[in-house]
Amino acid sequence: MKNVVLIPGDGIGAEITNSVTTILDEAGAKIDWIEKSAGLKAHEENGNPLPEDTIEAIDEHRIALKGPLTTPVGSGFKSVNVALRQKFNLYSNIRPARTLPSIDSPFRGVDMVLFRENTQGLYIGKEEWVEEADNKRHAEAIAVVTEEASEKIVRAAFEYAVHNDRKKVTLVHKANILKLTTGLFLEVGKRVAKEYKDIEFQDLIVDNMAMQMVMRPQQFDVVVTTNLFGDILSDLASGLVGGLGVTGAANIGDDAAMFEAVHGSAPDIVGKNIANPMGLLFSSLMMLEHIDQKQVAENIRKAIYKTLVEKKVYCTPDIGGEGTTSTFTQAVCDNI
Ligand code: NAD
Repeated sequence: MKNVVLIPGDGIGAEITNSVTTILDEAGAKIDWIEKSAGLKAHEENGNPLPEDTIEAIDEHRIALKGPLTTPVGSGFKSVNVALRQKFNLYSNIRPARTLPSIDSPFRGVDMVLFRENTQGLYIGKEEWVEEADNKRHAEAIAVVTEEASEKIVRAAFEYAVHNDRKKVTLVHKANILKLTTGLFLEVGKRVAKEYKDIEFQDLIVDNMAMQMVMRPQQFDVVVTTNLFGDILSDLASGLVGGLGVTGAANIGDDAAMFEAVHGSAPDIVGKNIANPMGLLFSSLMMLEHIDQKQVAENIRKAIYKTLVEKKVYCTPDIGGEGTTSTFTQAVCDNI
């Protein structure tokens, strides 16, 4: 058995984590769930959106499955997602985008996995006012790129390619303009690529990448890029296969990993039994692969695909079904 910290989170979090744990248990996943709180509910109950015992549990067990967390707009409430990534140095954000049966999407045959550097780049929000006087306001932002962090994420992408029978790694950058920061990322990528002779390597400038992704996304296999480009391109990739509601995500470091839904807490549909658990379910399959329960993951994936063929009957309204969270959960369990 493997201990996994389960953070249901806010809004629809309880409904979708309940569905996911039911399906994993039915499939015979060898997991002991250790439930902990985080997010708005934890903040209201304890005055802390990331309670100490939640951190201690992740510190001890090193694997977490997390539902969506509400981040109230306004000051005094730091994003728990960002805090967890920083605390456990979860430097790889991994987002697969794969065409699904019966899901409406602009393309078929898409099967790419995007690796986004999770801790650096322009995305870290290192900003300052240079001049604050009226009509003269001037702000600047700093992008941080280190050789060490670049090497870690590029290597993670190549290692994934080797272990998952992938053929090509595409590195995305803007080294023609940002010559030091993304130039360093590209230089490290080219160096690491030489160690992986069996994997094809290509680099693309981010604007060209964006166009290629919406013209011929089937050409991409594993993609690796810096934080802000990855933030944008990973949502674009999800959009190619049906949106954020049907895509999973992982945040992985050297000795801890957190798997999460990429959509939010959907306050408008809480308690209506129509929340779609598929995003978190796909994240949980990445978790099963990570903890060496690959066959269980594969069995669940097949059961989801079978359920999708009868989407109208069993699936939730956001993907065009007339079913509920419960009918989807039961159908996947029956198909396992
Ligand atoms: P949202 O993703 O919660 O909702 C956007 C729309 O998508 C809503 O109409 C919602 O009903 C629908 N939706 C989302 N997930 C769904 C699901 N699983 N099944 C069916 N429909 C679904 O985005 P938002 O409304 O902008 O944000 C709400 C809260 O969630 C905010 O506090 C935000 O900060 C937070 N948020 C958290 C995460 C995270 O924890 N990773 C990500 C995004 C937003």
